Amino acid sequence: MAYDNSPAIEVILLFGLPGSGKGTWGKILGMMPGFYHLSTGDMFRMLDTESELGERVIQIMSAGELVPDDIVFDLMRRNLRHAEDIGRFNRARDRLVLDGFPRTPRQAEALMEIATIKCVLLLDCDNRELLINRLRRRAVLENRADDASEAVLRRRFEIYDREISTALAKVASSLIERIDVSRQPVRILCTLSQALDKRLG
Ligand code: ADP
Repeated sequence: MAYDNSPAIEVILLFGLPGSGKGTWGKILGMMPGFYHLSTGDMFRMLDTESELGERVIQIMSAGELVPDDIVFDLMRRNLRHAEDIGRFNRARDRLVLDGFPRTPRQAEALMEIATIKCVLLLDCDNRELLINRLRRRAVLENRADDASEAVLRRRFEIYDREISTALAKVASSLIERIDVSRQPVRILCTLSQALDKRLG
């Protein structure tokens, strides 16, 4: 994802199955001074659906498949440049919270060229039924086409099972902090804060 030749960006990775709360916790972390949250899923959902690119990406997402790496890299580069231009992100000052990236071995390699990974927050849940129920609710509340169909959900879980083993295998296992997201939100927040304090403090 060659970005430019500046020093490595310090990154926190949020991993988790669909419905595990990556977006929610990513947004909360992104509100803290010194953190910038970038969700690749949100980045795609913000594309103009009338444009050729937007139409193509929405079609891929609605089928539960992965967006091609080159499109992901290009849009991330643009997002980060824009955030730097408007002073929202400063790589020397801020930690980048990545939610939904990397999802393929090539994405993991590209990330490691430009970033130092400080911590991997793995939002974990043994109970997939709980996640499916959350996703069904989200389909209605957020009108997300990719949450509405059972077959697409199953496909996304399948891709996650494959992607997590490949992308996480590229990251040192000692950086991984498991967070049980079946517990109460306040407990999750405590565990996340403790994990970050330990890794970044
Ligand atoms: P979830 O984790 O619930 O699937 P996301 O918002 O992270 O939700 O992703 C939604 C969709 O966006 C994915 O199913 C995929 O189509 C696309 N997507 C997000 N991040 C990536 C990525 N890094 N590489 C390829 N496709 C991605």
